[in-house]
Amino acid sequence: MPQLGFGVFQVPDDEAQEAVTTALTAGYRSIDTAQAYGNEAGVGRALAASGVPREELFITTKLWNSASETWTRDAVLREFDASLDRLGLDHLDLYLIHWPRPMRDDYLTIVRVFEEIHATDRLRAFGVSNFGPAHLRRLRDETGIVPAINQIELHPYFQQSEARAVHAELDIVTEAWSPLGQGQGLLNDPGIGAVAAKHGVSPAQAVLRWHLQLGNVVIPKSVTPSRIRENLDVFGFALDEADLRAFAALERGGRVGPDPDEFDAG
Ligand code: NAD
Repeated sequence: MPQLGFGVFQVPDDEAQEAVTTALTAGYRSIDTAQAYGNEAGVGRALAASGVPREELFITTKLWNSASETWTRDAVLREFDASLDRLGLDHLDLYLIHWPRPMRDDYLTIVRVFEEIHATDRLRAFGVSNFGPAHLRRLRDETGIVPAINQIELHPYFQQSEARAVHAELDIVTEAWSPLGQGQGLLNDPGIGAVAAKHGVSPAQAVLRWHLQLGNVVIPKSVTPSRIRENLDVFGFALDEADLRAFAALERGGRVGPDPDEFDAG
């Protein structure tokens, strides 16, 4: 899996084709979408038109929460097929449970179905998203399954050190969503600005470099072509120890998204 990919949360379906086309032209090969984003079809149109060989692409999508139902095997299989259809693909590289919804107690069922799909040639890897350490341990203890990856909110204001340590212990890849903190206050932080200025890069590039050096997979989102290219141009410099210490000092428990233990949106 490429360590740096392109996320399309909040990109409307009719804009997704253009954004993904720009990303593929810039050199991205990993695209992160979700059933809930409503843009799998637009992503699929861009993939089909790109001429990029399928084996060079790494496509991730996610099974959404459903407020009204507890997932059953048949429903998961149907939803997987529907995502593949919308994307116009015959296999996925990575399929994730979008949120654990512990109050519904169905993630053990879902992961067992993912494992079943994984045994076919339609799914190369599966993982989870927004799982906390307790959810991951329960999954391992009760099913014997360890997901390949956990996609969680992670940025300099919310560094997830406990989750990262548990991932390392269980051999799970850490993938950072909202790696730029959704571009709000984070990119105007003076500490990040100072590191960026020292290296002659933008604050977004400094933050993405920090993720890469920590070992996180990152999937920044933008619909602005210059920013899409800028966010991929982070392999020509390296942060030093002092920079990493400056980043470590930015932690403030500053979650921008919902708490996974409570989130159960439809
Ligand atoms: P992000 O941290 O990638 O921030 C995106 C925003 O940052 C943009 O809308 C723009 O305003 C700004 N930005 C981007 N590049 C910039 C640049 N170079 N300079 C200045 N500003 C810039 O936020 P995100 O979209 O929430 O997260 C990235 C991806 O993570 C999503 O697209 C999605 O694929 C995934 N995600 C997953 C979950 C989940 O529950 N699994 C939740 C949220 C996001």
